Amino acid sequence: MNADKPTLLVVDDTVENLDILVELLGDYDVRDVLDTEAALQVLEETPIDLILLDVMMPGVDGFEFCAQLQAHPRTRDIPVIFITARTDEAAIERAYELGGKDYVTKPFKPRELLARVRLQLQLRAMIGDLEYLAYHDTLTGVFNRRRFFDRAAQLFKESDTDLYAVMVDIDRFKRINDTHGHAVGDQVIRTVARQFSEALKPGAIFGRLGGEEFALVCSANSPEQVLAHIEGLRQRIAQEPIPAGEATLHVTISGGIARRRAGMRNIDALLRDADDALYAAKHAGRNRIVVA
Ligand code: GH3
Ligand code: MG
Ligand code: MG
Repeated sequence: MNADKPTLLVVDDTVENLDILVELLGDYDVRDVLDTEAALQVLEETPIDLILLDVMMPGVDGFEFCAQLQAHPRTRDIPVIFITARTDEAAIERAYELGGKDYVTKPFKPRELLARVRLQLQLRAMIGDLEYLAYHDTLTGVFNRRRFFDRAAQLFKESDTDLYAVMVDIDRFKRINDTHGHAVGDQVIRTVARQFSEALKPGAIFGRLGGEEFALVCSANSPEQVLAHIEGLRQRIAQEPIPAGEATLHVTISGGIARRRAGMRNIDALLRDADDALYAAKHAGRNRIVVA
């Protein structure tokens, strides 16, 4: 949702109807269009929080348009309220079946329509908050384990042998906790997560798998490219002391990199290879990155 003023898209083939709705919805940022083609154009360019949709329109009607919106991941979650002169039960039923969130018949009662708009915006904001909590790690704000695996599995399906997995683990982390306390340990985890997040390449997926362990999945042109990227992060983390109360801490990480092999069945297999490489890095003395 946009910071203070939600953006509404109003689609109706009658100019007078649009004028009435724009006037009524004066508290919102409103985009009004006369057909679904123009609506698509707006949706391409502007994040929309809610759609008010006329049903009977020449060309693509409101029902058909709602079905189209439902079919696309980018528009699926935008709530649609139908505003229509059709009052027959079959039409109302159809509106909900096609994914509409609410249905208002013309002539509508202005304050009732406003109340319904407010409710849908509240519900959407609430769902957004819950989704954020379900997908992100509370300590670091990066993807949690579940979300990381979902997104990484999706990327695995869409890609080929140019896919790489990286497993990362903070070295001797237990000692940091034991010496400086859990709160400082948490600060170290946050700092490492932030270093990785800030350096993330477009399309890469990064998450905290648990404890002081992170994973990254990305496409690249060569293992050397991935190694250079992760090696750069390792050095940066090793060089930048982390403030811990009075003292400053020197923290290191180890990492394992694996490339997707032909015939590899799923993301778990790729991550297992990366984990083996990580184990080798730990075994070889830590503070290093190993390519499988
Ligand atoms: P290695 O170099 O082999 O990775 O050794 P390590 O001490 O880092 O590894 P180990 O897995 O033995 O220790 C991880 C510790 O991380 C144990 C656990 O108590 C601690 N830990 C797990 N989750 C959290 C957390 O959310 N916050 C903090 N502060 N500590 C955590
Ligand atoms: Mg560790
Ligand atoms: Mg560990």
